[in-house]
Amino acid sequence: MDKDFREEEFTKVIKFTPPLYKQRYQFVKDLVEKYKPKKVADLGCADCRLLWMLKFCSCIEVLAGLDICASVMKENMHTLSPLPFDYLQPSERSLTVTLHHGSIAHKDPCMLGFDLVTCIELIEHLEESELKKFPEVVFGFMAPSIVVISTPNSEFNPLLPGVVLYRHPDHKFEWNQAQFQSWALEAAKCYDYSVEFTGVGHPPTGMENVGFCTQIGVFVRKYPQTSEFVQSEKPPEAVYKTVFKAVYPSLKDEKYLQNAVVSEVIFTAQNIKHHLMSKYEYDDDDPERKSRFQPSVDYFSDCLRKLVVDQTMEPFVNGNEVCIPLVTIFSFPKVNRLCGTFEKLCKLIAGKVTLSSDGSAVVFNTEHE
Ligand code: SAH
Repeated sequence: MDKDFREEEFTKVIKFTPPLYKQRYQFVKDLVEKYKPKKVADLGCADCRLLWMLKFCSCIEVLAGLDICASVMKENMHTLSPLPFDYLQPSERSLTVTLHHGSIAHKDPCMLGFDLVTCIELIEHLEESELKKFPEVVFGFMAPSIVVISTPNSEFNPLLPGVVLYRHPDHKFEWNQAQFQSWALEAAKCYDYSVEFTGVGHPPTGMENVGFCTQIGVFVRKYPQTSEFVQSEKPPEAVYKTVFKAVYPSLKDEKYLQNAVVSEVIFTAQNIKHHLMSKYEYDDDDPERKSRFQPSVDYFSDCLRKLVVDQTMEPFVNGNEVCIPLVTIFSFPKVNRLCGTFEKLCKLIAGKVTLSSDGSAVVFNTEHE
């Protein structure tokens, strides 16, 4: 009676905050922050939720998902597409997201070259034959620098309400800590990885020996990266089917860089012009009128004062034209950072911005305004 009561109490107490799946994803995110991988593959990615979270990690340039079930991937794959904002403000980094339909029991060359491979709550869904092939495919063939594998810890199950045999009807097995660790240590030894065990979902106080609700193994490859596929056998044929691919707009792409530079040059030039014109036109006695123009020009007047170091950099008015030297525009931090060199600035704006006849200044005709 006393024991039953305590168990009932536990079932009420065991509620993870944040929910366990979020803790698992956060664990992966923390790993990404720590190791800064450029290429990440999520095996058994299901509804792409982890991939969606990872697309915001700025170190990642290639994200791939693999699942044996195409329909579950397709449910939410639209969330992996770029948004209008991504086109308005292209990022400095490049990012490609691809989803593949296939089984982890098969090798496909598209899975080569990854830095981090995540297998969150995947292995317990594998048939015996697939589980047997898993170490060879993931550690032997894909051979990323880091592999993270999570799986339920069966020792925790008595503390979870309603769990009779397994936590999910599709689970083929659930391992206790010793079973998972001996499988992981064997795989690590065979493919020259080290492995450390941890988890998420703490057991209740006084029951620490039960271990984490989700057990996690973090595998780190011991040997250095090889740039090419250097196994004795030739690379396998492609067997996965690509079901989704998104290439995010990036400033690494000349087309987006040009757009960004042209916009920034026009924006900067217009502000300088505004500053210049306000000096000409609003140096009158109407204080109200003057103050209206003050806030926006102040930042630019300030920048201009600091950046214009000689006379050739001074913007000037010539009849109906306002001329803003390109060297002045180039010295504004954002333009400078985007272009890198003055030559690159000239190349990117050629034909896109009206320039003076010698090409040294941006020209605005005030007559048409
Ligand atoms: N990683 C996800 C989903 C876990 S459920 C999460 O943490 O929420 C396991 C997923 O693995 C399912 O989507 C299932 O379709 C997929 N799966 C099962 N067997 C697989 C196999 N042999 N190869 C690739 N994916 C598989």
